[in-house]
Amino acid sequence: MTKYVFVTGGVLSSVGKGIVAASIGKILASCGNNVTMIKIDPYINVDAGTMNPYMHGEVFVTDDGGETDLDLGHYERFLNTTLSKRNNITTGQIYQAVIMKERGGEYLGQCVQIIPHITDEIKSRIREVSKDFDVTVIEIGGTVGDIEGLPFLEAARQMRIEEGRENTFFVHVALVPILSVTGEQKTKPVQHSVQELRRIGIQPDAIVARCEKPLEDEAIRKISLFGNVPREAVFTSYNVETIYEVPIILEKQGLGRLILRELRFEKTSPDLSDLEEYVRKFKESSRVLTIAMVGKYTKLRDSYISIIEALSHSATHNHCRVKLKWIEATLVERNEIRVEEELADVDGVLVLPGFGKRGVKGKIKAIKYARERNIPTLGICFGMQLAVVEFARNVVGLNNANTTEVDPNTPHPVIDLLEEQRELEALGGTMRLGSEAIRLVKGTLVYRLYNRDVVFERHRHRYEVNPRYVDLLESSGMKISGYSVKKSLVEFVELPGNTFFVGCQCHPEYKSRPTDPAPVFKGFISKIISLT
Ligand code: GLN
Repeated sequence: MTKYVFVTGGVLSSVGKGIVAASIGKILASCGNNVTMIKIDPYINVDAGTMNPYMHGEVFVTDDGGETDLDLGHYERFLNTTLSKRNNITTGQIYQAVIMKERGGEYLGQCVQIIPHITDEIKSRIREVSKDFDVTVIEIGGTVGDIEGLPFLEAARQMRIEEGRENTFFVHVALVPILSVTGEQKTKPVQHSVQELRRIGIQPDAIVARCEKPLEDEAIRKISLFGNVPREAVFTSYNVETIYEVPIILEKQGLGRLILRELRFEKTSPDLSDLEEYVRKFKESSRVLTIAMVGKYTKLRDSYISIIEALSHSATHNHCRVKLKWIEATLVERNEIRVEEELADVDGVLVLPGFGKRGVKGKIKAIKYARERNIPTLGICFGMQLAVVEFARNVVGLNNANTTEVDPNTPHPVIDLLEEQRELEALGGTMRLGSEAIRLVKGTLVYRLYNRDVVFERHRHRYEVNPRYVDLLESSGMKISGYSVKKSLVEFVELPGNTFFVGCQCHPEYKSRPTDPAPVFKGFISKIISLT
């Protein structure tokens, strides 16, 4: 029988509930349990794919082509597992399914209502995903008190009755602010959010306070008293240097042991040695590399979270740390900052993924500078496409070469719409999405980094390198180092004349793990280390 751990949030969003949920999943999995995770997003969008990264941070792409919440990325990285689009449930999906059933006549004669029809649909999806697992950790997005979240909390409440106490566990994660004037840890917001939760019938079994520092005794006492949980069920997720330390500090405080005991697990000895080893390496690394991050969503770092993580995994692997220098491409474009100055002192340049015209000129300027100065450069997706545009213009000599995404009338469409995209009208879930096989070209740098003939990476794009220009690009010195097995789409490019200049149409960052960094990122960082 599957057991269910529900994680709710209080006071504020963005307090690291996803990391706490992933940490719980990791602790339970480290005892040898078969764990899966679900993120519930109460918004009406069917998936995260049509949302601006400013709204919601990165869109995390699963192997099966789901455009999901970035927390799935944390889950995959913490648990070293592969999830499916079904592991991200949204209000949009639930209502869409219920309305389809209603139109199909499945509820004939009934009045279709939030309770029981919407809540039944939520429960059945949770159970369907959980079928083959010992335990599912379900993070309910948003904050207790949000109207949108109510049906999901109600479904969770019902599951406690239906599955039984020994099969369900509720963890509430909420912020404990510290007043800067007095240094006092204030627990009132947590008290209120627990009350809100109890008002709708859920009594948390454990409370995790998110606080800059470990909770003081007095704060623990208050949270225990007003939150109606024993003192041993109050924990702190305090500030740590790397997120991979969170499972370790929570387990030290006994969170895993409490859940394992309450849920009557047979396998009860967590083994976090892989993360302990990672954290030790991370802390021992003092050498710092500066990587320029060229993009246009630089104000919200969550927009590029998987890339940041992949860099960090690779740095730790190489016994160093990365300092990210954010270069806002739109400011370069408007000449408010100059690449010559911005990139003068960096060790490497990473050109980020993206969509649309804004900031493109700035990115191309940065690519040109990095290529000419032979600064190690990695371009991901749009970053790779613009590296091809820059090369076509300035090396091949194709004036006004462009991607048709930016200039539909360019005389040289070196990047053009994928054939399958031409007739499409709907924009949700219609990009080339998910994992596909890539055949690497022997003798290339990318081949050496993977050391394999065929690799699988994930995708999220509509445009591709125009096959008509491949010969011209290659005869001018750009090497294509990988093609998709199915359709021979260009997947990797490189400049053999440069120390490290690689572009990926695919997104290797999605599969990077702390203990197994993505080969291209690892190669990028190793190369930089060998030069400095
Ligand atoms: N806008 C480009 C495309 O759709 C690149 C997408 C991306 O960077 N993820 O092909």
